[in-house]
Amino acid sequence: MLFCTNENKILIPTNQESEHSKKISDFPFIPHPQHDTTFPFNQDLQHYLHGKRLLIDEIPFPSETIQSHYQYGFLKYDYGLTATKVGQTCQRCGNINVNLFASFHCSRCNQECTYCRHCIMMGRVSECTPLISWSGPKPSPRAYNYKLTWNGTLSKGQKLASDKVLEAIQNNTSLLVWAVCGAGKTEVLFKGIESALSQGKHVCIATPRTDVVLELSPRLHKVFPDMEVATLYGGSEDRMKNSPLTIATTHQLLRYYRAFDTLIIDEVDAFPYSIDPALEYAANQAQTEDGTKIYLSATPSKKMQREARSGRLSTFIIPARYHRKPLPVPAMEWCGNWEKRVKKSKLPGNVLYWVQKHHSANRPIFLFVPNIELLEKITAILKMQFGELVAGVHAKDRKRKEKVADFRAGKTRILVTTTILERGVTVANVQVGVLGAEDNLFTESALVQIAGRAGRSNQHPDGDVRFFHYGRTREIINAIDQIRRMNYRAEKGGFQDG
Ligand SMILES: [Zn+2]
Ligand SMILES: [Zn+2]
Repeated sequence: MLFCTNENKILIPTNQESEHSKKISDFPFIPHPQHDTTFPFNQDLQHYLHGKRLLIDEIPFPSETIQSHYQYGFLKYDYGLTATKVGQTCQRCGNINVNLFASFHCSRCNQECTYCRHCIMMGRVSECTPLISWSGPKPSPRAYNYKLTWNGTLSKGQKLASDKVLEAIQNNTSLLVWAVCGAGKTEVLFKGIESALSQGKHVCIATPRTDVVLELSPRLHKVFPDMEVATLYGGSEDRMKNSPLTIATTHQLLRYYRAFDTLIIDEVDAFPYSIDPALEYAANQAQTEDGTKIYLSATPSKKMQREARSGRLSTFIIPARYHRKPLPVPAMEWCGNWEKRVKKSKLPGNVLYWVQKHHSANRPIFLFVPNIELLEKITAILKMQFGELVAGVHAKDRKRKEKVADFRAGKTRILVTTTILERGVTVANVQVGVLGAEDNLFTESALVQIAGRAGRSNQHPDGDVRFFHYGRTREIINAIDQIRRMNYRAEKGGFQDG
């Protein structure tokens, strides 16, 4: 798309190339026409666009409607890309890395055109693409009189955290809820969400994983039955929905602009949020200026832990699980040069003994290993002894869902896995081993998450967690330390039963 300016110096889209037509990025500034209150604006467009910042292709209204709302000051065109001294900045994802831009011959502007590769999966932002947002009146806040219908009970830790969340939402402050694996963090949000909705606020829960979006959406719908929950992930159909309650993958935040008064970021330490600064940028853009951010994590990053300790980020810790039993403390066990043994199709004696012991006591076993290649070898070794009761699963495995389901159903008893199952998967009475715990992949937080798979259920609140290693690492020691400290804190604070 190209623009020229008319006699009133406002932008007019044009399909014809001429000496006056330019890409939006070539205008030194973008005129914003005066807001004309007499203009009969389109309320559907208002509801659709408010709180978002979208490409023209993402707006299902005729281009004339969009242009007329711009001319009467009801929506804004912004640059998609802006030039810097050395390259470009993508205004949607914040990318400034020169290697993450490319040029192509663009059919919209019929010229060489630079675009952002970093957020391309959400549609192309290029030099000739405006980002479009609503600048007219806000849709009038409806009285969201949605009653919470949940009558479960909160544990002591959950209750205190729930009060803190409520307080943060009411005072528009930010909060980190550091809840150990199995503490039950979702329930901690219910009261706060209810209060936000009743004040006409918009709430979004953003989480890195699509699985979690799909699991949370029906749960929230159940506790807020009158509420339509907008559920957004790559490929979902809910984009048109304008609900005050949204559940989305973190990537979807790139489409929002000043939309959410309460933004809840789940698993804030998890891939990809922690390693992709674009998502942090997106979260800041998606939140209203005086809004609240609630971060949830079982294993906050070192940076966030520092902010928590220094008091820059107010933090509430839930140190105990819902069932009030201590977290299983992992044991370290040296297993020699295990890689050499695996090459000879053998496992270290103590590892094999550990597997046999739990297997003959009829307990399911998770065995974490560092990479896919080793996973395949180790799975084959275990199959020689335990046959079809063994399965191996990794991130690129097409049968991943079925394999996890078989393990849950007890059809397989030993599941060898890479770190993909470090979060989320809960199986009663599972015993957890890590073979090669010294590998770089097993960071402090990965190890805490892995250990957090054990002892989750009421019937089996403990479990045997072993870190088999060929040389202890700082990360192994810190992980065990972190778990011990949580247990200590839980005991001292009366969050645990003796
Ligand atoms: Zn971008
Ligand atoms: Zn172009």
